[in-house]
Amino acid sequence: MFRGFRPTSLRVQSVESLSHNTKRLRFEYPNQTLTSGLQLTSSVLVFCWPQKSWLPAIRPYTPVSSLNQCGFLDLVVKKYPHGKVSSHLHTLQPGDSLYFLGPLPGGYRWSAATATEHSQVYLIAGGSGITPTYQLARGILEENPDGHTKVQVVFGANTAQDLVLKKELDTLQRRFADRLQMHYLVSEAEPSVGEAGNKDVSYGARVTTSRLQQFFGAKRQGGEKVFVCGPPGIENALVGGKANGRGILEELGFEKDQIHVF
Ligand SMILES: Cc1cc2nc3c(=O)[nH]c(=O)nc-3n(C[C@H](O)[C@H](O)[C@H](O)COP(=O)(O)OP(=O)(O)OC[C@H]3O[C@@H](n4cnc5c(N)ncnc54)[C@H](O)[C@@H]3O)c2cc1C
Repeated sequence: MFRGFRPTSLRVQSVESLSHNTKRLRFEYPNQTLTSGLQLTSSVLVFCWPQKSWLPAIRPYTPVSSLNQCGFLDLVVKKYPHGKVSSHLHTLQPGDSLYFLGPLPGGYRWSAATATEHSQVYLIAGGSGITPTYQLARGILEENPDGHTKVQVVFGANTAQDLVLKKELDTLQRRFADRLQMHYLVSEAEPSVGEAGNKDVSYGARVTTSRLQQFFGAKRQGGEKVFVCGPPGIENALVGGKANGRGILEELGFEKDQIHVF
């Protein structure tokens, strides 16, 4: 479907609300036998004309449907207050159309060759950063079912309701129980009133050095790779920078070339 970076208009087939600010939008291809043609971890560009704007606004999104899925493409979109494109996407209804361009050049490409180099992959996602994380975790596990690459996902969010795609991640975890480990961390201190709470979710928990050391171990080994995708706060804390010096991952002994920030 996405070849040669040509603009393509796709129709919305369905819209599902996943949380108070996140929706899953399904776009149908003109031909039901088509697949996306995207690679792990490609993104597509979406462009639209937000209300009262002459100029189009363009933003990247990472599809969460399988790359080999025939007939449609799913985006999971978090709406930001006053966000130009995310607000527009949240107004879409079945039958509406949206322009796409893709695949977005650059980024990280996971392949069969990469899989042989990495025996252990750590994926750390914050909020809507779960979309490339989910795509990559599923790709590593499904496309190479006999592969030796093990995956740990650390998914941090504000509340348990913000853990979008948790159902899909849990299904993946059950299918690949010996290769995938999930860690859910939410900053809310306890389940909201009226909610039972999830026993596999750590409440009042943040991504810290000691917590990651508990998950990943203290000693680094060859063949490890870390992927980070989240809001700037979590990315800065993990990889560091001029303002805050060494990041958590460096403290844990990861080398710069073992870390990829989406
Ligand atoms: C490679 C890539 C893939 C992406 N995939 C997805 C995806 O699958 N799903 C998804 O929901 N988003 C994804 N994003 C983010 C997306 O591209 C937009 O940045 C996001 O939807 C906000 O755009 P907007 O036009 O609505 O907001 P803007 O009009 O650009 O910004 C409005 C306000 O929201 C704040 N804001 C914007 N983006 C963020 C952010 N990421 N974190 C915190 N505050 C923010 C801004 O500071 C501003 O105050 C991806 C980004 C990249 C780079």
